[in-house]
Amino acid sequence: MLSPAICTVLFACSPAHSSSNLNAEQIRAKLQAIPFDQEVHLTNKEWQVIMSPQQFYVMRRAGTEAPSLSGNALDHRKGIYLCSACSNLLYSADAKFDSGTGWPSFWQPIRKEAVHESNTVSAIFGREISCARCGSHLGHVFNDGPEPTGLRYCMNAVALTFHEGGEGTIENAHANH
Ligand SMILES: [Zn+2]
Repeated sequence: MLSPAICTVLFACSPAHSSSNLNAEQIRAKLQAIPFDQEVHLTNKEWQVIMSPQQFYVMRRAGTEAPSLSGNALDHRKGIYLCSACSNLLYSADAKFDSGTGWPSFWQPIRKEAVHESNTVSAIFGREISCARCGSHLGHVFNDGPEPTGLRYCMNAVALTFHEGGEGTIENAHANH
């Protein structure tokens, strides 16, 4: 049991502490408390605390990582891909194809509403694609993809987290976050 005096001190200290010192565990707890059907609005300062430098550069500064011939880019196992920032469901491995670019590529998102497509289009960069739940940059979409959509969602591997599995993968992935 804490004495009343200690409780008073703890309560007096906690508001000042939480506002001046961004704590990774507190931010992750705040993020995990948001239901998956609601949008996530963290500040860039908060994201920076819980992301790796490479994730922050790509996902919050709209950077592009170097293409890789290993790992995620060539992973064609059955499963799903979540947003590395907020765990929003983005892509199924069923829609993944080898684009030859070194970036993980898909011909459609798992749900149309899972991603946000920018209104402006660039000849070189296509349209920017971001996570519809947390606003993090994911990559770009181009019109030179395979059938049946003819689209190529060219993603940064660091922006995606892969969960292997078949039926029930979605529920398991969310239960583990
Ligand atoms: Zn997200």
